[in-house]
Amino acid sequence: MTSIHNAGKPAFFIFGEQETMEALAETVTVTLPDGSTRKIPAGTSLRAVAEGIGPRLAKDALAGKIDGKVVDLAAPVLRDAKIEIVTPKSPDALELYRHSTAHLTANAVKRLFPTVQIGIGPAIENGYYYDFNPERPFTPEDLAAIEAEMKKIVAEDNPVERLEMSKDEAIKIFEGQNDKLKVEIIRGIPDDRVSCYRQKDFIDLCRGPHVPSTGKLGVFKLTHTAGAYWKGDEKNPMLQRIYAACFVSQKELDEHLKRLEEARARDHRKLGKELDLFSFHPLAPASPFFHPKGALLYNGLIAFLREEYRRRGYEEVVTPQIFDAELFKISGHYANYKENMYFTEVEEREFGVKPMNCPGHYLLYQTRLWSYRDLPVRFADFGRLHRYELSGVTAGLTRVRSFSQDDAHIFTPLEKVESEIFAFLEFVDFVYGTFGFTEVEISLGLRPEKRIGADALWDKGEAALAAALTKAGRPHVVTPGDGAFYGPKIDFRVRDAIGRPWQLGTIQCDFSQPENFDLTYIGEDGGKHRPVVLHRAILGSLERFLGILIEHTGGNFPFWIAPVQAVVLPVSDRFAEKGRDVAAKLSAAGLRVECDDRNEKLGAKIRRAEMMKAPCMLVVGEKEAEAGTVAVRLRHGGDAGTMSLDAFLAAAGRAVAARVQELTTEVKDR
Ligand SMILES: [Zn+2]
Ligand SMILES: [Zn+2]
Repeated sequence: MTSIHNAGKPAFFIFGEQETMEALAETVTVTLPDGSTRKIPAGTSLRAVAEGIGPRLAKDALAGKIDGKVVDLAAPVLRDAKIEIVTPKSPDALELYRHSTAHLTANAVKRLFPTVQIGIGPAIENGYYYDFNPERPFTPEDLAAIEAEMKKIVAEDNPVERLEMSKDEAIKIFEGQNDKLKVEIIRGIPDDRVSCYRQKDFIDLCRGPHVPSTGKLGVFKLTHTAGAYWKGDEKNPMLQRIYAACFVSQKELDEHLKRLEEARARDHRKLGKELDLFSFHPLAPASPFFHPKGALLYNGLIAFLREEYRRRGYEEVVTPQIFDAELFKISGHYANYKENMYFTEVEEREFGVKPMNCPGHYLLYQTRLWSYRDLPVRFADFGRLHRYELSGVTAGLTRVRSFSQDDAHIFTPLEKVESEIFAFLEFVDFVYGTFGFTEVEISLGLRPEKRIGADALWDKGEAALAAALTKAGRPHVVTPGDGAFYGPKIDFRVRDAIGRPWQLGTIQCDFSQPENFDLTYIGEDGGKHRPVVLHRAILGSLERFLGILIEHTGGNFPFWIAPVQAVVLPVSDRFAEKGRDVAAKLSAAGLRVECDDRNEKLGAKIRRAEMMKAPCMLVVGEKEAEAGTVAVRLRHGGDAGTMSLDAFLAAAGRAVAARVQELTTEVKDR
C-alpha cells in the first residue's frame, strides 16, 4: 500500500472556501446560539472559538456550524456569521459521527487487507455501511478483527485533516494506492478541485465534514455483511458491504443492539416454522400455506371481526374471484393496475383475477334500488385477492401474492361520511386495543396534485374526515398531497411491543367509482343522488397482520386466539388415559386443547409446551386424577394452583369472552 506520506503533501492546503488574503485581515462578528456576539479575527477556526467560550465545550466539540452549515471544527470563520459548536448532544452530531466511523472502518480494513479497494461509506438509519472490493468475502472473524483494529485507531487518537487539491492530484493519490473505485468517482466529479480527509495512514475522498480526531469515535458495532453492486448497478462488480450500528452514546447503541436481538427472536418467518404455522412452496411463489395451527389463528381473526361486524351494522357478502376484464376497464384497474393483476382467457374472453373487492361490490350495489333510508350500507368481504408481487423477495407474510383483507365498502350519502368515520375510529381503537396495540398514529391525507373529482367534493370530503377526527379528539398529522387520487383518506399506524411502526388500517373516501359505475340512491327529495364509497380495512391483509401479530407477541398469542390454549400433561403413562379424558372434556366445551401423552418425563413435556408457547398447562397426576382436578401452570405466571375442571373451564370461558392476552388468576377470581 502506498501511504499518504509517500504520496507527498498536496501542494494546496486550505480549509473551507477559497478566500483572498485581504479578507483575512479584518475582524468579523459571530453570533452564538444564545444570541450573544463576539468579535474575532477573520480566519479564526471554530475550534479556537470553542476554546474561547470554554475548555469543556472545546473538549466536547465534534464539528461546528457556520450559518447553519455543518463544517469541520478546523474551518475558519471568514465573515460575519451565525455559528454553533456541534457536540455529541447536537442533532447534527449523529450523521457526522456515523460517517466519520465509516472512514474509521475503511482505515482499519486498509490496514488489515492492504489490497482491498474502497468504495463509499454513507451514514444510514441506525449506523452506516462501507463498500469494499476484497479478494474474498469478509468472514465473521474478519469483522471481529476489523472491529479490534478500529478500536486501536480510536486509541491512537489520530487527527482527521481536510486536504483540498486538484482532481489530478487526488487521482494520483488513489491510483498510487490502487483504489480504482475512488479514481472512478473523482473522474465523475464536475468540479476542478476535490477534498480528501486524512487520518494518519489513511486517506479518503470526501466532502466532509468530519470529527477532528479518531479519538472522538468508538461507539459502533459491525453487524453483518452483504453483497452490493458498485453504484447499485448489476452490470458492475459485486462489492462486499459492511454494515454497522453506530450511535453517539454507548447506551443508545446497546439499546439498538438489544432491539435487533429482540427483532431476530421475534422474526415471524422463524417463529412461523418453529410453531408450525405456515410455509411456502416454490410451486406457489409468495403464496402462504397455513398449517392447521396457522389456520386456527387465521380463522380466529375472521371470527373476531365477523362478531364485530354483526354488532356494528356491517353485512358480509361473498363475491366472485374472477371477472370479465370489462369490469376492470370500467374500474380503471385495467389501465392503471394491470401489471399487478393475473389474467386468463376462457372462451375467447379475457378474465382478470380480482386484486381488490371493490369492483365486485359495485356490481352488487347495482342489483337493486337504494333509498336514503337504506344507507349507509356496509358490505364486508373476506374474499381472496391476488396481486402480482416480485418473486423471491422474502419467505415471509409481509408481501404475498395471495391474501385476504378485513375489507369493507361503505356506501353512504356525503352527509353521513363524518358519522361513519367517527364510528370507524371507535372500531379501530377497539380492534387494535384487543391485540395490545395501544400506540396508534393517525394521518389525514389530503388532495394530491393528480386527482379526479370536483374541488367542491374534495372540500366536503376533507372537511368531513377532519371533523370526525376532531370530534373524536384524536391527535393526527395532516399530510397534504398524500390522499388517494380519488379522495382523501385516514391511515392508521401502530407500534408493536418493541416500538416498530406498522401501517395497518385505512379509510378512504372515493368520489370517482360511484361515477364510473353510475351508483345512485333516491334522496329525500325523490331525486337520484351519488353515494360516496368508503374503502376501509382495520387489519389490512390478514396474512400481513398475522406476521405482525407473531412479531408483536413473539408467538405468545393472546389466550383467546391461541391455536392451542391448553396442553394437558399426564405426569406418567399411568395417567395418560385420564389426561386424554380431561382434554376431551375441555375440547367438547370449546377450548383448543392438546394432550401430551408421550411416554416422557414431566420436565420434557413442560419444555415442549413452553416451546409451543402454550398459554397454559394442565398437569394431571395421582392426586388430580383422584380428585378430578388439574394443576394449572400459566405461560408467564408459573404455578396457578389446583382447581376443578369446571372451575378451570369457567375461568377460561371468561378469559375468552374478555379476549384477554393471558389467562390469569384475576380472571379466575372475577
Ligand atoms: Zn467522509
Ligand atoms: Zn376498495
